[in-house]
Order: sequence, then C-alpha cells, then structure tokens
Amino acid sequence: MGVNGLMKIGFIGLGNMGTPLAERLLKKNQLFVYDVNQENLKYFIKKGATPCSTPSELALQTSRIFLCLPTSTIVKKVINGENGLLNSVEKGSYIIDMTTGEPEITREISKELQSKEINFIDAPVSGGPKGANQGNIAIMVGGTKTQFSTIKPIMDQISCNIFYAGKIGSGHSIKAGNNLLNLICRMATFEVVSMLVKDGVNPETAVNIIQKSSGRNYATEITLPDNIISGKMVQGFSTGLMKKDAGVATKIAEANKVEIPLGKLSQELLKNTIDEFGEDADMSTVALTYEKLTGAKIRP
Ligand code: NAD
Repeated sequence: MGVNGLMKIGFIGLGNMGTPLAERLLKKNQLFVYDVNQENLKYFIKKGATPCSTPSELALQTSRIFLCLPTSTIVKKVINGENGLLNSVEKGSYIIDMTTGEPEITREISKELQSKEINFIDAPVSGGPKGANQGNIAIMVGGTKTQFSTIKPIMDQISCNIFYAGKIGSGHSIKAGNNLLNLICRMATFEVVSMLVKDGVNPETAVNIIQKSSGRNYATEITLPDNIISGKMVQGFSTGLMKKDAGVATKIAEANKVEIPLGKLSQELLKNTIDEFGEDADMSTVALTYEKLTGAKIRP
C-alpha cells in the first residue's frame, strides 16, 4: 500500500490510449508512471502521479504494472531491455499488457516470466480514448482464471466491460481479429457513403439512417458521426497502429492457413492513405483518400 492506504499501481505508455486508461487508475490509487516522452510524463506529474526515470525504478515501487505500448517488440524491450522491469520486479508481481500485441510474442514473454514466478497477462482494449474516458471500454483478458480474478478488481476501476478471453494470448488474438473487422467495416462504410453522396444524398442523413438499419457498425455509430461528419478529423488512433493490428491478424490467418480476402483488400486500401499521409497520420485521414478516389465529400 502507498500513501493514505492507496494501492500502488504502475503505468507505462502514456499515449493516446494509455493516458485515459491511466487517468482512471489515478482516481483511486497512488500511480507511478513512465514514458519515453517527457511531455506525456509532465501531464501526469501535474495530475499527481509519481514519475519514474526507468521501468526498473517503477518496478521497485509496485507489484501491479500496466503497459500500453505501441507494439509487443517494445513491450519485450521494456521488460527485458536495459533498465527494464526484470531488473527489479518482485516475484508474484503482475505485468498487465494492454498493448494491442502479438499473441505469439505474448505467449513467449509469459513463459519466460512464469519461470521467474512473475505473472504476465494480456489485456488489450477496444473502444478508443472515448470508451476509456466513459469507463466502458472493452478489456479482453488472456491468462489463467486465477490471474484474471486477481487483477479484475483493479480493472473494475477502469471499465464495466471486462471479459475473460481464455488462455494467455487469447486477448491479443481477439483484439487483432476485432481490429481487422473494424478496418473492413470502416472501408466498406466509406465506400458506400461516398457512393450515396455521389447519388445526391446528404452524408449525415445517410449515416444516421444506416445506423438504425441493418448496415450499422462502429463506423456508422462512432467514426463517421464523431470524427468525420463533425469535421473534427481526430480519432486519436494512427494509421500506423491500424496497419500493425491488421498485420497481426494476417499473421494469425497465415499461421492457421485461413484465407482472408476482405482483410487483405482493406489493408491495401489503408496503404493508399499511408502512402499519402504517413504512419503517424490519424485514421480520420482515410476520409481524404476516399474523397480523392470518388470525388464525394463526406466532411462538412
Ligand atoms: P501512442 O503512440 O499514442 O502512445 C504510445 C506511448 O508509448 C507514447 O506515449 C510513447 O512515448 C510510449 N512509448 C513508446 N516506446 C516506449 C518505451 N520504450 N518505453 C516507454 N514508453 C514508450 O499509441 P496509442 O494510441 O496510445 O496506442 C498504444 C497501444 O494501444 C497500441 O498497441 C495500440 O494499438 C493500442 N490501442 C490504441 C487505441 C487508440 O484508439 N489509440 C485503441 C485501442 C488500442
């Protein structure tokens, strides 16, 4: 326990997604934070979190450590690398990986840490920064049922939608499948709404009606109304991260010899946006690619 009987929790990776997740934990715990980006750290210092100068220093403070990093390769580095968590993490600790990671690497890390009596579980999230702020983001947990029930009370502080996904890596598998499906639905929605705009329909009207009809999906519910039609053009999720997630799903398909033609086509369409705007661009820029391709303006 930390000051005033608060639980001590660590959080590494304070980007678009990690920030709102960590902010929820900050409300009821003593939070120790680390990020390579000093600006992101400063934001949390102002809010009352304690900064650490390395992952190793953070692991000296707490036995419950959350990660929300870009990739599984970076997760490995934060655990095993120079000044990584392994230098000081206590036996019996939990490292909870909220990154959208690769199930195979996750199983490898878990096996290695198990031999050191350290728990490593996957707990990726879906619902974006908005879902985290609202406290209803989906969290899908891979690990043993005992590991799940040990960590669930902390996760309850983040969201009311927590799911046991199955053995280690299952959360990361389901998350990769979910994001490929999100990409396919998003591209399909842009395609159809662009076609309707060319046919003289108002895009907002089309999306509102489809959202209450059989074609509804996350793009008609959130992406188009909140980020595109509103003119905001910021979703808080980069094209590079989407490319990575769809790539993880493709690896799963290949390992299991399953054909994914829609998945492949949606990735080719995403490549058009990345070629023009780069991998740091927000996923909202996909709208600009469709505008160029079809001449239909969906934005105001
Ligand atoms: P981001 O790029 O905004 O944030 C990543 C953070 O990790 C940054 O603050 C960066 O400085 C930090 N970082 C990078 N390398 C580091 C290291 N070696 N040590 C410490 N910190 C390091 O990305 P994001 O959008 O927050 O995504 C994080 C993860 O969450 C990704 O795996 C992503 O796929 C997943 N995710 C994102 C969203 C979303 O809507 N943004 C939704 C669901 C899942």
